[in-house]
Amino acid sequence: MSGRSLAVVIGAGIAGLAMAGTAAGRFDRVLLLDRDQLPDTATPRRGVPQSYHGHVLLAAGQAALEELFPGVRDELVAAGALPFDFGVALGFYRYGAVWSRVPSGLEMLAMTRPLLELTLRRRIAALPNVRIRPSVAVAGLTGDGTRVTGVVLDDGETVPADLVLDATGRGMRSDRWLGALGLPTPDVVEVKIGVRYATQLVRCDDGDLADTAGMLVLPTPPAEKRTGLALAVEGDRWLVGLGGWHGEHPTPDPDGFRAYAKSLPEPTIGDLLARAEPVTDIVAFQFPSSRRRRFELLREPPGGYLAVGDAICSFNPVYGQGMTVAALEAAALGRLLDRVPDNSGRLARAFYREAARIIRTPWQFAVGADFVYPETTGPRPRAIPLLNRYSTRLQLAARTDPELRRTFTWVQQLVTPPGALFTPRVIARVLRRRTDPA
Ligand SMILES: Cc1cc2nc3c(=O)[nH]c(=O)nc-3n(C[C@H](O)[C@H](O)[C@H](O)COP(=O)(O)OP(=O)(O)OC[C@H]3O[C@@H](n4cnc5c(N)ncnc54)[C@H](O)[C@@H]3O)c2cc1C
Repeated sequence: MSGRSLAVVIGAGIAGLAMAGTAAGRFDRVLLLDRDQLPDTATPRRGVPQSYHGHVLLAAGQAALEELFPGVRDELVAAGALPFDFGVALGFYRYGAVWSRVPSGLEMLAMTRPLLELTLRRRIAALPNVRIRPSVAVAGLTGDGTRVTGVVLDDGETVPADLVLDATGRGMRSDRWLGALGLPTPDVVEVKIGVRYATQLVRCDDGDLADTAGMLVLPTPPAEKRTGLALAVEGDRWLVGLGGWHGEHPTPDPDGFRAYAKSLPEPTIGDLLARAEPVTDIVAFQFPSSRRRRFELLREPPGGYLAVGDAICSFNPVYGQGMTVAALEAAALGRLLDRVPDNSGRLARAFYREAARIIRTPWQFAVGADFVYPETTGPRPRAIPLLNRYSTRLQLAARTDPELRRTFTWVQQLVTPPGALFTPRVIARVLRRRTDPA
């Protein structure tokens, strides 16, 4: 098959939903499969263990989702998501100081991941040519030796498809699935970062955080390794996430959790937890490594199949990039489907090239920053020590320089390419500024 009759999307996480939105406009029918019972409420679910934890959608991701699902921003706000300017409403502590508040002109939404997922799922479910099948696990792929031709469900049923979009996330099994068909599998790059998290939803008097979106505390590396986030989310709740790199993490019991918050170098999150009532248990998560599958390096990637989202690249969650990258990939796939007339290896090559371009900057940011810790191991991107020295200086300067802060925010939100940090004007400002710790 090489037409556009049926696209099968495996996985109804953020990548799967975004891809289903893209495919719905270009295929006669879309079938979206997920192994989970998908809830009618904004609640975490088993197949997405990270859904208990804080998820920040960067400004570029919000724009890409709005392109795929026009009006979704307003729906999220109507459902309780809080719009805010990252430069003003989210307190940001890094390199020994709370950074001065500078309007960035970029809007973000404070909400839980389940609310985002539920809202996108409802949009997809309302499309006349999309069918969502929950509680169905995919067990493999079918193929004809050169390309993928469909999926095999765990009860043995096969579903032929013109294009299979594999959005099964970080835990994907598709290397085994492709290998079983004699199709090539990508090299994997893994950078070990030893990140661990624990998260709790609480309710409390907003105190100093009234009318704000919360507080983000990042460590001064390599001496400090602890991080914390308090985010105002729908339902008048605060999502408190605490974690760290390479062995620094809270124990998931109330005393250990509160003590860890108190140990952060900035007091706001510890104070908030001290006056909070728990809404949920404390849930822990381990994220041992950032992982990237280099599909773009395959000479002949299989036709009829595209890995997307975390199934290509799963980043250190502390930097909040995965959902944005998934949304940007979905928007890019739409443009390619409009240009490439079939679903062959040619489409796959073009898509993986485009995905690699989208992934390059966030991967450099995340992995580069993680290599500040000597315990981080794995393939190091080129020039990392030099870039990290510049990045540290830039951030020390951006704490108090409004223009640098704004530029840094736009790049970090993936709205502006990183070249904006290396213009002669920015370099001069960075070098001129006092850069001793506050
Ligand atoms: C702790 C943590 C915090 C994070 N915080 C952020 C953040 O702040 N901002 C951000 O942008 N990103 C964050 N991320 C990353 C983000 O969760 C993902 O990048 C994003 O959701 C895209 O993932 P995905 O849709 O590819 O995979 P997932 O969200 O993992 O979804 C995979 C889906 O596939 C289904 N599935 C899997 N296997 C099968 C199968 N065999 N058959 C049928 N269905 C299957 C699963 O049930 C699931 O629904 C975080 C990640 C973690 C771990």
